[in-house]
Amino acid sequence: FNCRRKMKKLIIFITLSILSLLYPYAASGETRNIELRAERYSYTPNIITVNKGDIIRLKLISTDVTHGFYLDGYEINFFARPGENKEVVIKADRTGRFVFRCSNTCGEFHPYMIGLLKVEPNRLYFFGVYFSIILGIGAVILTIRRKNVGSFKLFGLIPLDWRFELTKYKFVRSLFKSRLFPFVPILINLAIFSALLLAMFTGGFSAGNYNVGIMIVWILWWVLLMLFMVPVVGRFWCMVCPFPMIGDWIQRGKLLVVGSQKSRGLNKRWPKKWNNLWPLVILFFMTTWFSGFFTVRPLASFILLGGIILGAILFSLFFQKRSFCLYACPVSGFQGLYANFSLCEVRVKDPNICKNNTPKTCAVGSEKGYGCPWMELPYDMNRNTYCGLCLECFKTCPYDNMAFNVRPSGADFMAERRRTDELYNRRGTDEAFKALTMIGIFFSFFIAFQGPFGTIKDNIRAVTPGGYLTYILEATTVDFLLIPV
Ligand code: SF4
Ligand code: SF4
Repeated sequence: FNCRRKMKKLIIFITLSILSLLYPYAASGETRNIELRAERYSYTPNIITVNKGDIIRLKLISTDVTHGFYLDGYEINFFARPGENKEVVIKADRTGRFVFRCSNTCGEFHPYMIGLLKVEPNRLYFFGVYFSIILGIGAVILTIRRKNVGSFKLFGLIPLDWRFELTKYKFVRSLFKSRLFPFVPILINLAIFSALLLAMFTGGFSAGNYNVGIMIVWILWWVLLMLFMVPVVGRFWCMVCPFPMIGDWIQRGKLLVVGSQKSRGLNKRWPKKWNNLWPLVILFFMTTWFSGFFTVRPLASFILLGGIILGAILFSLFFQKRSFCLYACPVSGFQGLYANFSLCEVRVKDPNICKNNTPKTCAVGSEKGYGCPWMELPYDMNRNTYCGLCLECFKTCPYDNMAFNVRPSGADFMAERRRTDELYNRRGTDEAFKALTMIGIFFSFFIAFQGPFGTIKDNIRAVTPGGYLTYILEATTVDFLLIPV
Protein backbone atom coordinates (compact mmCIF):
# COMPACT_ATOMS: atom_id res chain seq x y z
CA PHE A 1 0.00 0.00 0.00
CA ASN A 2 2.84 2.29 1.08
CA CYS A 3 4.67 1.44 -2.10
CA ARG A 4 1.61 2.36 -4.20
CA ARG A 5 1.35 5.76 -2.53
CA LYS A 6 5.02 6.39 -3.20
CA MET A 7 4.54 5.35 -6.80
CA LYS A 8 1.57 7.73 -7.16
CA LYS A 9 3.62 10.61 -5.72
CA LEU A 10 6.44 9.85 -8.14
CA ILE A 11 4.08 9.83 -11.12
CA ILE A 12 2.48 13.14 -10.02
CA PHE A 13 5.92 14.70 -9.55
CA ILE A 14 7.10 13.58 -12.98
CA THR A 15 3.86 14.73 -14.67
CA LEU A 16 4.03 18.16 -13.00
CA SER A 17 7.68 18.50 -13.96
CA ILE A 18 6.93 17.69 -17.60
CA LEU A 19 3.96 20.08 -17.62
CA SER A 20 6.14 22.83 -16.16
CA LEU A 21 8.25 22.58 -19.30
CA LEU A 22 5.24 23.39 -21.41
CA TYR A 23 4.45 26.81 -19.93
CA PRO A 24 3.84 29.53 -22.53
CA TYR A 25 7.02 31.32 -23.38
CA ALA A 26 7.25 34.86 -24.70
CA ALA A 27 9.81 35.27 -27.44
CA SER A 28 12.09 38.22 -26.65
CA GLY A 29 13.12 39.38 -30.15
CA GLU A 30 16.26 41.32 -29.12
CA THR A 31 19.12 42.06 -31.50
CA ARG A 32 22.36 40.39 -30.33
CA ASN A 33 25.72 41.50 -31.72
CA ILE A 34 28.21 38.66 -31.46
CA GLU A 35 31.85 38.77 -32.45
CA LEU A 36 33.01 35.21 -33.05
CA ARG A 37 36.78 34.69 -33.17
CA ALA A 38 37.97 31.57 -34.97
CA GLU A 39 41.40 30.19 -34.24
CA ARG A 40 42.72 26.66 -34.75
CA TYR A 41 40.71 24.61 -33.37
CA SER A 42 38.15 26.58 -31.37
CA TYR A 43 35.76 29.52 -31.43
CA THR A 44 35.56 32.33 -28.88
CA PRO A 45 32.93 32.47 -27.49
CA ASN A 46 32.49 28.73 -27.84
CA ILE A 47 28.90 28.72 -26.55
CA ILE A 48 26.36 31.32 -27.65
CA THR A 49 23.05 31.48 -25.80
CA VAL A 50 20.09 33.45 -27.19
CA ASN A 51 16.33 33.39 -26.86
CA LYS A 52 13.86 32.35 -29.49
CA GLY A 53 12.98 35.28 -31.72
CA ASP A 54 16.33 37.07 -31.20
CA ILE A 55 18.15 38.47 -34.21
CA ILE A 56 21.84 37.47 -34.15
CA ARG A 57 24.30 39.75 -35.95
CA LEU A 58 27.26 37.43 -36.11
CA LYS A 59 30.68 38.71 -37.11
CA LEU A 60 33.23 35.97 -37.89
CA ILE A 61 36.88 36.98 -37.43
CA SER A 62 39.62 34.55 -38.33
CA THR A 63 42.92 35.11 -36.56
CA ASP A 64 45.18 32.49 -38.18
CA VAL A 65 44.05 30.56 -41.29
CA THR A 66 40.80 30.59 -43.29
CA HIS A 67 37.97 29.24 -41.16
CA GLY A 68 34.36 28.51 -41.95
CA PHE A 69 31.10 28.68 -39.99
CA TYR A 70 28.47 26.06 -40.68
CA LEU A 71 25.42 26.07 -38.42
CA ASP A 72 23.58 22.75 -38.17
CA GLY A 73 19.80 23.07 -38.27
CA TYR A 74 19.92 26.56 -39.81
CA GLU A 75 22.05 25.46 -42.80
CA ILE A 76 24.13 28.67 -42.79
CA ASN A 77 27.63 28.48 -44.21
CA PHE A 78 30.25 31.15 -44.82
CA PHE A 79 34.02 31.69 -44.54
CA ALA A 80 36.47 34.30 -43.27
CA ARG A 81 40.08 34.62 -44.42
CA PRO A 82 42.80 35.59 -41.90
CA GLY A 83 42.25 39.17 -40.73
CA GLU A 84 38.93 39.34 -42.58
CA ASN A 85 35.58 40.09 -40.86
CA LYS A 86 32.48 38.48 -42.30
CA GLU A 87 29.01 39.26 -41.01
CA VAL A 88 25.79 37.34 -41.23
CA VAL A 89 22.34 37.89 -39.72
CA ILE A 90 20.53 34.89 -38.24
CA LYS A 91 16.97 34.88 -36.93
CA ALA A 92 16.85 32.45 -33.99
CA ASP A 93 13.44 31.07 -34.86
CA ARG A 94 14.09 27.44 -33.86
CA THR A 95 14.70 26.41 -30.28
CA GLY A 96 17.28 23.80 -29.32
CA ARG A 97 20.98 23.19 -29.20
CA PHE A 98 22.70 23.66 -32.55
CA VAL A 99 26.28 22.81 -33.34
CA PHE A 100 28.36 25.15 -35.47
CA ARG A 101 31.59 23.90 -36.95
CA CYS A 102 34.44 24.97 -39.19
CA SER A 103 33.61 24.22 -42.81
CA ASN A 104 37.03 24.85 -44.30
CA THR A 105 39.84 22.34 -43.66
CA CYS A 106 42.12 24.31 -41.33
CA GLY A 107 44.43 21.55 -40.05
CA GLU A 108 44.45 18.01 -38.67
CA PHE A 109 41.94 18.73 -35.87
CA HIS A 110 39.57 20.56 -38.22
CA PRO A 111 36.74 17.96 -37.89
CA TYR A 112 36.61 18.70 -34.16
CA MET A 113 36.49 22.53 -34.37
CA ILE A 114 33.04 22.98 -32.88
CA GLY A 115 30.89 25.55 -31.05
CA LEU A 116 27.34 25.60 -29.68
CA LEU A 117 24.38 27.84 -30.30
CA LYS A 118 21.67 27.42 -27.66
CA VAL A 119 18.29 28.87 -28.49
CA GLU A 120 16.19 28.92 -25.30
CA PRO A 121 13.85 27.52 -24.09
CA ASN A 122 15.14 24.06 -25.03
CA ARG A 123 12.10 22.02 -24.00
CA LEU A 124 12.94 19.08 -26.18
CA TYR A 125 16.23 18.59 -24.32
CA PHE A 126 14.56 18.59 -20.90
CA PHE A 127 11.84 16.29 -22.16
CA GLY A 128 14.56 13.92 -23.42
CA VAL A 129 16.31 13.94 -20.04
CA TYR A 130 13.07 13.27 -18.13
CA PHE A 131 12.06 10.54 -20.54
CA SER A 132 15.45 8.79 -20.19
CA ILE A 133 15.25 8.95 -16.39
CA ILE A 134 11.74 7.51 -16.36
CA LEU A 135 12.78 4.77 -18.78
CA GLY A 136 15.85 3.95 -16.65
CA ILE A 137 13.83 3.79 -13.40
CA GLY A 138 11.18 1.67 -15.12
CA ALA A 139 13.79 -0.75 -16.44
CA VAL A 140 15.40 -1.14 -12.99
CA ILE A 141 12.03 -1.73 -11.29
CA LEU A 142 11.02 -4.33 -13.88
CA THR A 143 14.39 -6.10 -13.65
CA ILE A 144 14.24 -6.27 -9.85
CA ARG A 145 10.64 -7.45 -9.73
CA ARG A 146 10.88 -10.21 -12.35
CA LYS A 147 12.93 -13.19 -11.27
CA ASN A 148 12.02 -15.75 -13.89
CA VAL A 149 13.72 -15.14 -17.25
CA GLY A 150 10.97 -16.89 -19.18
CA SER A 151 8.32 -14.56 -17.76
CA PHE A 152 10.27 -11.40 -18.60
CA LYS A 153 9.18 -9.60 -21.74
CA LEU A 154 11.21 -7.03 -23.60
CA PHE A 155 9.11 -3.83 -23.76
CA GLY A 156 6.31 -6.00 -22.38
CA LEU A 157 6.04 -7.73 -25.77
CA ILE A 158 8.79 -10.23 -26.61
CA PRO A 159 9.57 -12.99 -24.07
CA LEU A 160 13.31 -13.06 -23.30
CA ASP A 161 13.49 -16.78 -24.04
CA TRP A 162 12.04 -16.32 -27.57
CA ARG A 163 14.42 -17.63 -30.29
CA PHE A 164 14.28 -17.93 -34.07
CA GLU A 165 16.86 -20.33 -35.48
CA LEU A 166 18.42 -19.13 -38.72
CA THR A 167 20.42 -22.33 -39.16
CA LYS A 168 17.23 -24.33 -39.60
CA TYR A 169 17.46 -23.15 -43.21
CA LYS A 170 19.59 -25.62 -45.11
CA PHE A 171 21.43 -22.91 -47.02
CA VAL A 172 22.54 -21.13 -43.84
CA ARG A 173 23.67 -24.35 -42.13
CA SER A 174 25.61 -25.50 -45.20
CA LEU A 175 27.26 -22.08 -45.39
CA PHE A 176 28.27 -22.18 -41.72
CA LYS A 177 29.59 -25.73 -42.07
CA SER A 178 31.70 -24.88 -45.08
CA ARG A 179 35.41 -24.18 -44.48
CA LEU A 180 35.11 -21.37 -47.01
CA PHE A 181 33.00 -19.38 -44.55
CA PRO A 182 34.04 -17.06 -42.96
CA PHE A 183 37.43 -17.66 -44.63
CA VAL A 184 36.49 -15.89 -47.90
CA PRO A 185 35.08 -12.73 -46.20
CA ILE A 186 38.23 -12.62 -44.05
CA LEU A 187 40.40 -12.77 -47.20
CA ILE A 188 38.39 -9.94 -48.81
CA ASN A 189 38.70 -7.94 -45.60
CA LEU A 190 42.44 -8.59 -45.54
CA ALA A 191 42.78 -7.15 -49.04
CA ILE A 192 40.71 -4.07 -48.10
CA PHE A 193 42.64 -3.47 -44.88
CA SER A 194 46.00 -3.92 -46.64
CA ALA A 195 45.00 -1.15 -49.08
CA LEU A 196 43.84 1.06 -46.20
CA LEU A 197 47.08 0.46 -44.30
CA LEU A 198 49.04 1.45 -47.39
CA ALA A 199 46.96 4.65 -47.71
CA MET A 200 47.61 5.44 -44.04
CA PHE A 201 51.34 4.79 -44.39
CA THR A 202 51.67 7.01 -47.45
CA GLY A 203 49.39 9.67 -45.84
CA GLY A 204 52.02 10.22 -43.15
CA PHE A 205 51.30 13.31 -41.04
CA SER A 206 48.83 14.98 -43.42
CA ALA A 207 45.33 16.02 -42.22
CA GLY A 208 43.26 12.86 -41.81
CA ASN A 209 40.12 14.15 -43.52
CA TYR A 210 41.92 13.89 -46.88
CA ASN A 211 43.05 10.32 -46.24
CA VAL A 212 40.92 7.41 -47.46
CA GLY A 213 42.36 5.10 -44.77
CA ILE A 214 41.32 7.42 -41.92
CA MET A 215 37.91 8.10 -43.45
CA ILE A 216 37.04 4.46 -43.98
CA VAL A 217 38.42 3.18 -40.70
CA TRP A 218 37.32 5.91 -38.25
CA ILE A 219 34.13 7.04 -39.95
CA LEU A 220 32.70 4.11 -41.91
CA TRP A 221 34.12 1.09 -40.03
CA TRP A 222 33.80 2.54 -36.53
CA VAL A 223 30.23 3.73 -37.11
CA LEU A 224 29.23 0.39 -38.66
CA LEU A 225 30.88 -1.44 -35.76
CA MET A 226 29.09 0.56 -33.08
CA LEU A 227 25.69 1.07 -34.73
CA PHE A 228 25.19 -2.11 -36.70
CA MET A 229 27.68 -4.95 -36.19
CA VAL A 230 27.77 -5.13 -32.39
CA PRO A 231 24.11 -4.25 -31.60
CA VAL A 232 22.71 -6.58 -34.27
CA VAL A 233 25.13 -9.50 -34.62
CA GLY A 234 27.47 -9.14 -31.60
CA ARG A 235 31.06 -9.94 -32.46
CA PHE A 236 30.33 -9.85 -36.18
CA TRP A 237 33.57 -7.98 -36.75
CA CYS A 238 35.54 -10.76 -35.01
CA MET A 239 33.92 -13.25 -37.41
CA VAL A 240 35.46 -11.48 -40.42
CA CYS A 241 38.44 -9.78 -38.74
CA PRO A 242 41.69 -10.16 -40.71
CA PHE A 243 44.02 -9.14 -37.83
CA PRO A 244 44.59 -12.63 -36.32
CA MET A 245 44.72 -14.44 -39.67
CA ILE A 246 48.52 -14.66 -39.88
CA GLY A 247 48.67 -15.82 -36.23
CA ASP A 248 46.10 -18.57 -36.92
CA TRP A 249 48.14 -19.68 -39.92
CA ILE A 250 51.33 -19.85 -37.86
CA GLN A 251 49.63 -21.92 -35.14
CA ARG A 252 47.79 -24.29 -37.47
CA GLY A 253 50.27 -24.53 -40.30
CA LYS A 254 47.24 -24.48 -42.62
CA LEU A 255 45.08 -21.70 -43.92
CA LEU A 256 41.91 -23.36 -45.10
CA VAL A 257 41.98 -27.10 -44.52
CA VAL A 258 42.11 -28.62 -41.04
CA GLY A 259 45.55 -29.55 -39.77
CA SER A 260 46.70 -30.77 -36.37
CA GLN A 261 44.83 -29.50 -33.30
CA LYS A 262 48.21 -28.96 -31.66
CA SER A 263 49.57 -25.46 -32.04
CA ARG A 264 52.95 -25.03 -33.75
CA GLY A 265 53.71 -22.15 -31.37
CA LEU A 266 54.83 -22.46 -27.75
CA ASN A 267 51.15 -22.90 -26.77
CA LYS A 268 51.60 -21.39 -23.30
CA ARG A 269 48.63 -20.74 -21.01
CA TRP A 270 47.81 -17.10 -20.37
CA PRO A 271 48.69 -16.25 -16.70
CA LYS A 272 45.74 -17.20 -14.47
CA LYS A 273 45.94 -13.91 -12.57
CA TRP A 274 45.18 -12.02 -15.78
CA ASN A 275 42.62 -14.48 -17.04
CA ASN A 276 39.88 -11.80 -17.10
CA LEU A 277 38.92 -8.51 -18.73
CA TRP A 278 41.39 -6.38 -16.74
CA PRO A 279 44.11 -6.48 -19.45
CA LEU A 280 41.52 -5.30 -22.00
CA VAL A 281 40.26 -2.57 -19.66
CA ILE A 282 43.80 -1.23 -19.23
CA LEU A 283 44.91 -1.66 -22.85
CA PHE A 284 41.81 -0.04 -24.32
CA PHE A 285 42.10 2.85 -21.89
CA MET A 286 45.77 3.34 -22.78
CA THR A 287 44.87 3.27 -26.48
CA THR A 288 42.43 6.14 -25.91
CA TRP A 289 45.34 8.33 -24.73
CA PHE A 290 46.45 8.47 -28.35
CA SER A 291 43.04 9.09 -29.91
CA GLY A 292 44.00 12.74 -30.53
CA PHE A 293 46.62 11.38 -32.95
CA PHE A 294 45.31 8.27 -34.63
CA THR A 295 41.88 9.66 -35.53
CA VAL A 296 43.50 12.60 -37.36
CA ARG A 297 46.99 11.48 -38.49
CA PRO A 298 47.19 8.64 -41.06
CA LEU A 299 50.60 7.43 -39.88
CA ALA A 300 49.39 7.19 -36.27
CA SER A 301 46.46 5.02 -37.43
CA PHE A 302 48.90 2.88 -39.40
CA ILE A 303 50.99 2.35 -36.26
CA LEU A 304 47.90 1.45 -34.22
CA LEU A 305 46.47 -1.08 -36.70
CA GLY A 306 49.91 -2.42 -37.58
CA GLY A 307 50.57 -2.83 -33.84
CA ILE A 308 47.37 -4.88 -33.44
CA ILE A 309 48.40 -7.20 -36.30
CA LEU A 310 51.94 -7.55 -34.93
CA GLY A 311 50.57 -8.18 -31.43
CA ALA A 312 48.26 -10.92 -32.76
CA ILE A 313 51.25 -12.60 -34.48
CA LEU A 314 53.47 -12.44 -31.39
CA PHE A 315 50.72 -13.77 -29.15
CA SER A 316 50.11 -16.68 -31.51
CA LEU A 317 53.78 -17.65 -31.20
CA PHE A 318 53.74 -17.77 -27.41
CA PHE A 319 50.20 -18.34 -26.18
CA GLN A 320 47.32 -20.74 -26.81
CA LYS A 321 44.82 -20.23 -29.60
CA ARG A 322 43.15 -16.77 -29.66
CA SER A 323 44.70 -15.52 -26.39
CA PHE A 324 45.33 -12.23 -28.18
CA CYS A 325 41.63 -11.74 -28.90
CA LEU A 326 40.64 -12.72 -25.38
CA TYR A 327 43.21 -10.72 -23.46
CA ALA A 328 44.96 -8.10 -25.58
CA CYS A 329 43.02 -6.78 -28.59
CA PRO A 330 41.95 -3.21 -27.76
CA VAL A 331 38.63 -3.55 -29.57
CA SER A 332 37.74 -6.93 -28.09
CA GLY A 333 36.52 -6.03 -24.59
CA PHE A 334 33.74 -3.62 -25.47
CA GLN A 335 32.60 -5.77 -28.41
CA GLY A 336 32.24 -8.74 -26.06
CA LEU A 337 30.40 -6.72 -23.46
CA TYR A 338 28.02 -5.03 -25.89
CA ALA A 339 27.46 -8.36 -27.66
CA ASN A 340 25.29 -9.24 -24.65
CA PHE A 341 22.78 -6.75 -26.09
CA SER A 342 22.97 -8.14 -29.62
CA LEU A 343 20.06 -9.67 -31.51
CA CYS A 344 21.95 -12.85 -32.44
CA GLU A 345 23.68 -15.69 -30.65
CA VAL A 346 25.42 -19.02 -31.18
CA ARG A 347 23.99 -21.64 -28.80
CA VAL A 348 23.53 -25.31 -28.44
CA LYS A 349 20.11 -26.57 -29.59
CA ASP A 350 19.56 -29.52 -27.29
CA PRO A 351 21.82 -29.69 -24.19
CA ASN A 352 20.93 -33.35 -23.66
CA ILE A 353 22.66 -34.34 -26.90
CA CYS A 354 25.83 -32.68 -25.59
CA LYS A 355 25.49 -34.31 -22.16
CA ASN A 356 25.38 -37.80 -23.61
CA ASN A 357 28.24 -37.52 -26.05
CA THR A 358 32.00 -37.48 -25.71
CA PRO A 359 34.45 -36.31 -26.85
CA LYS A 360 32.99 -32.82 -27.10
CA THR A 361 34.38 -32.01 -30.52
CA CYS A 362 33.16 -28.39 -30.41
CA ALA A 363 35.72 -27.82 -27.65
CA VAL A 364 38.53 -30.21 -28.66
CA GLY A 365 38.14 -30.24 -32.45
CA SER A 366 37.81 -32.96 -35.08
CA GLU A 367 38.94 -33.64 -38.64
CA LYS A 368 36.17 -31.22 -39.72
CA GLY A 369 37.36 -28.22 -37.76
CA TYR A 370 39.31 -26.77 -34.84
CA GLY A 371 38.32 -26.91 -31.18
CA CYS A 372 36.87 -23.52 -30.18
CA PRO A 373 39.70 -21.06 -30.91
CA TRP A 374 38.29 -18.70 -28.24
CA MET A 375 38.61 -21.50 -25.65
CA GLU A 376 34.87 -21.42 -24.91
CA LEU A 377 32.93 -24.54 -24.03
CA PRO A 378 30.35 -24.10 -26.81
CA TYR A 379 28.11 -26.85 -25.34
CA ASP A 380 27.88 -24.89 -22.07
CA MET A 381 27.90 -21.31 -23.39
CA ASN A 382 25.00 -19.05 -22.43
CA ARG A 383 26.43 -15.56 -23.07
CA ASN A 384 27.95 -13.86 -26.11
CA THR A 385 30.82 -12.10 -24.34
CA TYR A 386 33.63 -14.48 -25.26
CA CYS A 387 32.27 -16.08 -28.43
CA GLY A 388 34.13 -14.77 -31.48
CA LEU A 389 31.50 -16.16 -33.92
CA CYS A 390 34.23 -18.06 -35.77
CA LEU A 391 31.65 -20.81 -36.53
CA GLU A 392 34.15 -23.67 -35.96
CA CYS A 393 31.64 -25.36 -33.63
CA PHE A 394 29.15 -25.64 -36.52
CA LYS A 395 31.80 -27.54 -38.46
CA THR A 396 32.91 -29.83 -35.63
CA CYS A 397 29.55 -30.79 -34.10
CA PRO A 398 28.64 -34.19 -35.61
CA TYR A 399 24.98 -33.83 -34.56
CA ASP A 400 24.36 -30.37 -36.07
CA ASN A 401 23.45 -29.35 -32.56
CA MET A 402 24.77 -25.77 -32.77
CA ALA A 403 22.28 -23.05 -33.70
CA PHE A 404 22.55 -19.47 -34.85
CA ASN A 405 19.55 -17.72 -33.33
CA VAL A 406 17.85 -14.37 -33.58
CA ARG A 407 16.71 -13.30 -30.11
CA PRO A 408 15.54 -10.31 -28.06
CA SER A 409 18.22 -7.80 -27.21
CA GLY A 410 19.87 -8.09 -23.81
CA ALA A 411 18.85 -11.72 -23.20
CA ASP A 412 22.33 -12.51 -21.79
CA PHE A 413 21.88 -10.28 -18.76
CA MET A 414 19.41 -12.70 -17.24
CA ALA A 415 21.58 -15.78 -17.96
CA GLU A 416 22.55 -17.89 -14.94
CA ARG A 417 26.18 -18.69 -14.06
CA ARG A 418 27.60 -21.68 -15.88
CA ARG A 419 30.58 -24.00 -15.63
CA THR A 420 32.49 -21.84 -18.12
CA ASP A 421 32.11 -18.86 -15.77
CA GLU A 422 33.53 -20.88 -12.86
CA LEU A 423 36.31 -22.33 -15.01
CA TYR A 424 37.52 -18.93 -16.17
CA ASN A 425 36.42 -17.02 -13.07
CA ARG A 426 34.19 -14.81 -15.18
CA ARG A 427 31.40 -12.33 -14.44
CA GLY A 428 33.44 -10.54 -11.81
CA THR A 429 34.27 -6.89 -11.17
CA ASP A 430 36.41 -6.86 -14.35
CA GLU A 431 33.31 -7.01 -16.58
CA ALA A 432 31.40 -4.47 -14.48
CA PHE A 433 34.40 -2.16 -14.48
CA LYS A 434 34.79 -2.48 -18.24
CA ALA A 435 31.18 -1.35 -18.69
CA LEU A 436 31.65 1.60 -16.35
CA THR A 437 34.94 2.74 -17.88
CA MET A 438 33.29 2.68 -21.31
CA ILE A 439 30.72 5.20 -20.01
CA GLY A 440 33.58 7.35 -18.69
CA ILE A 441 35.47 7.09 -21.99
CA PHE A 442 32.31 8.05 -23.87
CA PHE A 443 31.93 11.22 -21.76
CA SER A 444 35.63 12.15 -21.99
CA PHE A 445 35.61 11.66 -25.77
CA PHE A 446 32.36 13.52 -26.25
CA ILE A 447 33.58 16.52 -24.30
CA ALA A 448 37.04 16.50 -25.92
CA PHE A 449 36.08 15.90 -29.56
CA GLN A 450 32.47 17.06 -29.87
CA GLY A 451 32.63 19.76 -27.20
CA PRO A 452 33.42 23.42 -27.83
CA PHE A 453 36.46 23.60 -25.49
CA GLY A 454 39.66 24.56 -27.29
CA THR A 455 41.92 23.94 -24.27
CA ILE A 456 40.84 20.30 -23.99
CA LYS A 457 41.46 19.85 -27.73
CA ASP A 458 44.93 21.36 -27.33
CA ASN A 459 45.60 18.98 -24.43
CA ILE A 460 44.42 15.84 -26.23
CA ARG A 461 46.60 16.62 -29.25
CA ALA A 462 49.58 17.29 -26.96
CA VAL A 463 50.33 20.90 -27.89
CA THR A 464 52.37 21.01 -24.66
CA PRO A 465 53.62 18.00 -22.61
CA GLY A 466 52.00 19.49 -19.48
CA GLY A 467 48.64 19.84 -21.22
CA TYR A 468 48.81 16.26 -22.49
CA LEU A 469 49.58 14.99 -18.99
CA THR A 470 46.63 16.99 -17.68
CA TYR A 471 44.36 15.31 -20.25
CA ILE A 472 45.58 11.84 -19.22
CA LEU A 473 45.09 12.64 -15.52
CA GLU A 474 41.62 14.09 -16.13
CA ALA A 475 40.57 11.11 -18.27
CA THR A 476 41.91 8.66 -15.65
CA THR A 477 40.00 10.46 -12.90
CA VAL A 478 36.73 10.49 -14.85
CA ASP A 479 36.98 6.99 -16.37
CA PHE A 480 38.57 5.07 -13.50
CA LEU A 481 37.36 6.94 -10.42
CA LEU A 482 34.38 9.26 -10.83
CA ILE A 483 32.15 7.08 -13.04
CA PRO A 484 32.94 3.65 -11.47
CA VAL A 485 32.69 5.00 -7.90
S1 SF4 B 1 39.29 -9.61 -30.80
FE1 SF4 B 1 40.32 -8.08 -32.06
S2 SF4 B 1 41.84 -9.16 -33.28
FE2 SF4 B 1 40.46 -10.69 -32.41
S3 SF4 B 1 38.98 -11.08 -33.98
FE3 SF4 B 1 38.10 -9.48 -32.65
S4 SF4 B 1 38.73 -7.50 -33.47
FE4 SF4 B 1 39.96 -9.10 -34.48
S1 SF4 C 1 31.56 -20.93 -29.44
FE1 SF4 C 1 33.71 -20.90 -30.05
S2 SF4 C 1 33.78 -22.16 -31.88
FE2 SF4 C 1 31.64 -21.59 -31.58
S3 SF4 C 1 31.36 -19.73 -32.78
FE3 SF4 C 1 31.85 -19.11 -30.70
S4 SF4 C 1 34.07 -18.82 -30.72
FE4 SF4 C 1 33.58 -20.02 -32.52
